[in-house]
Amino acid sequence: MSETRLAWLLLGGYGLLALVPLILAAAQGLPPRPFLEDLASGLALVGFAMLLLEFLLSGRFKGLSAAVGMDRVMQFHQIMAWLLVLFLVLHPFLYYLPTESATAPYDPTAESGGEIGLLPSLTGWAAWFLLLLLVFTAAVRDDLGIRYETWRASHGVGALLIALFGLHHTVEAGHYSGDPLLAGVWVVAVAIAIGALLNVHLLIPLRQRRRPYRVHAVRHAAERTWILTLEPDTAAGHPGDLFPYRAGQFVWLRFERALFRITEHPFSLSSTPADGPQLEVTIKEAGDFTNGVGDIPQGSRVYLDGPYGNFTLQQGDVRPLVLIGGGVGMAPLMGLLRDVIRRGVNRRVRVIQGNRVAEQILYREELAQLARDGRVSVHQALSEPPADWDGERGVPDEALLNHCVPESERGNAVFYVCGPPAMIDSVEHTLLHRFRVPPERVICERFRYTLDNRRGSTGRLLRACLGTVAVLVLAILLFALR
Ligand SMILES: Cc1cc2nc3c(=O)[nH]c(=O)nc-3n(C[C@H](O)[C@H](O)[C@H](O)COP(=O)(O)OP(=O)(O)OC[C@H]3O[C@@H](n4cnc5c(N)ncnc54)[C@H](O)[C@@H]3O)c2cc1C
Repeated sequence: MSETRLAWLLLGGYGLLALVPLILAAAQGLPPRPFLEDLASGLALVGFAMLLLEFLLSGRFKGLSAAVGMDRVMQFHQIMAWLLVLFLVLHPFLYYLPTESATAPYDPTAESGGEIGLLPSLTGWAAWFLLLLLVFTAAVRDDLGIRYETWRASHGVGALLIALFGLHHTVEAGHYSGDPLLAGVWVVAVAIAIGALLNVHLLIPLRQRRRPYRVHAVRHAAERTWILTLEPDTAAGHPGDLFPYRAGQFVWLRFERALFRITEHPFSLSSTPADGPQLEVTIKEAGDFTNGVGDIPQGSRVYLDGPYGNFTLQQGDVRPLVLIGGGVGMAPLMGLLRDVIRRGVNRRVRVIQGNRVAEQILYREELAQLARDGRVSVHQALSEPPADWDGERGVPDEALLNHCVPESERGNAVFYVCGPPAMIDSVEHTLLHRFRVPPERVICERFRYTLDNRRGSTGRLLRACLGTVAVLVLAILLFALR
């Protein structure tokens, strides 16, 4: 199935699941209430369902990430979070607005047809405030200087509390959710959501225990960048079999003392399955964990969760390959390149590598050897080159791509891009809008899941989501107007 078709299928499936409680509420045949009250209920029914679906989106499902890419799943998670927050934030205020029957200000009895007890009211407001806090901290965590691990732990705990408080409020206070069938659906949905959370924080770590790895070697690769080789720790119980990944995918790494602590980090594999059971990751110092990676002792225990992602080669594809990498973004590209070479695939490969200074160039010797052997064309660009630099100058922008990628190649090459966000945005823009390369031939891997780049793949995702958003809003309006 094509990726686009799959994406539409997933968006449709998401929309349908988000509407299940609304459909069940409408099917109860209760007498209609004033528009604003049913609008408030409709927003809450869909908003709470979307909130529970957020658990699944961040639940690390390998099939989902391999199909559409983890970056897109997490971006979708963020887009839908904004929408559901809007729905749920509006929900209580609609009861304040004057309607033909409600007695303003907020009259909870108008919502449920009976008195809302103190507890359901409290759990509703607790979930409401926590939700705002959760989204606010997610949006500004970098500006507030919150450590990633602290934020991630509080995000998980906060989401769990919102789900539990929300469930209590919904079933106890909801006009429609008191119905046994709908109440049952909510209980099952919350259980599945919590299951997805437990899977990441409990079941995956437990499963990892049976397949421990050890650090075989740590070597300096380039300025503030290290290559770690990992091997199955057979002495500690690993069966010694191959890790079932595809070149270009990534894993979450968790070091021994942190089995249940949330100190795991995602890193792309720069090895290829053809290398055997040994795996390689290339890590650049970027913060509190990665700054110490060069000091990790040989033999350290490490656990892997994965593989994830769809930054992979298509089986049987022999079209020319253009790999464009900036800094440590070369890591997954090196996995792809090694895969083509080791499997002896007859495919033209061009590498365009951007760095600031020569000391940052990764895999320099290996690439030089492959270039000498005529296996790959390598263009290395420095934005701050020394006087005697005989490679390219500048960054991988339109001018450099124009110079390095012959026109004849642009018509059928597949482009893989990984690097700093600004580089990916600019390269993606050049390929899509200047070289007119169709989106399915431009594959990007982002190390940060932001929604900043509206011109490239993020813009396409946002536009694709508009259809789902429109359907959800329309369904809520029809529910309120019925
Ligand atoms: C799919 C993917 C593949 C990656 N591959 C590589 C790679 O091959 N080589 C490499 O050097 N880096 C890679 N990264 C980036 C790497 O994960 C971060 O640089 C690293 O986690 C930073 O951790 P820190 O504690 O040193 O820095 P911090 O100061 O804690 O974090 C710096 C930033 O890194 C991101 N980050 C931190 N921890 C995590 C986490 N657990 N999950 C997701 N993002 C996190 C956050 O955006 C954070 O703001 C990849 C990231 C992703 C999402």
